[in-house]
Amino acid sequence: MTDDFQRPVLTPPDGQKKVLLHSCCAPCSGEVMEAMTASGIDYTIFFYNPNIHPKEEYLLRKEENIRFAEKHDVPFVDADYDTTNWFKRAKGMEWEPERGARCTMCFDMRFERTALYAHENGFPVITSSLGISRWKNMTQINDCGERAAAHYPGIAYWTFNWRKGGGAARMIDISKREHFYQQEYCGCVYSLRDTNAHRVSQGREEIRIGELYYGDAQ
Ligand code: SF4
Repeated sequence: MTDDFQRPVLTPPDGQKKVLLHSCCAPCSGEVMEAMTASGIDYTIFFYNPNIHPKEEYLLRKEENIRFAEKHDVPFVDADYDTTNWFKRAKGMEWEPERGARCTMCFDMRFERTALYAHENGFPVITSSLGISRWKNMTQINDCGERAAAHYPGIAYWTFNWRKGGGAARMIDISKREHFYQQEYCGCVYSLRDTNAHRVSQGREEIRIGELYYGDAQ
């Protein structure tokens, strides 16, 4: 990352300065957090990801996110790990491909809780780090975010494309600089199963949880 990079000043919807940032993990939210900090946005991280399986992986991702939030002095809300509800909602969608109907459910569930917390705690804007990953469908994520926000008058989902303007490359640079834990699958047990099946078909080893960190020799 070049030290002389000048970040543009970002403006959330309606010129608001207070944002609830749904975060999926430290690598995806690192760039989003630094962009918001540079723009003087008053934001809080909301960690609600009951999709992540197994619990060991969930705790690794969460603890990395807490570590970075503390470093930036950013408030961090640790929400429920209500996996029972997630599995109930995923029922019948176990074999959906990534970016399919199960993922829409998964984004909806996470954003519904984010919007509820925003409503109850006076945040006029919500957004998410989920869209920064090139593996995700931005339109699908934005649709889910807007659907969740629409339940509450006065709450907007910020559809900013965090990938653009070099954001995707900075996400990797920050992850290496911070030596973040590097997850190797999207998060749920089905994505773990499918990623492992793909790796095995390519002659690679299955994922070993807790082993890979950005910046390590690979
Ligand atoms: S693949 Fe990712 S987004 Fe889709 S359901 Fe699983 S954890 Fe959620």
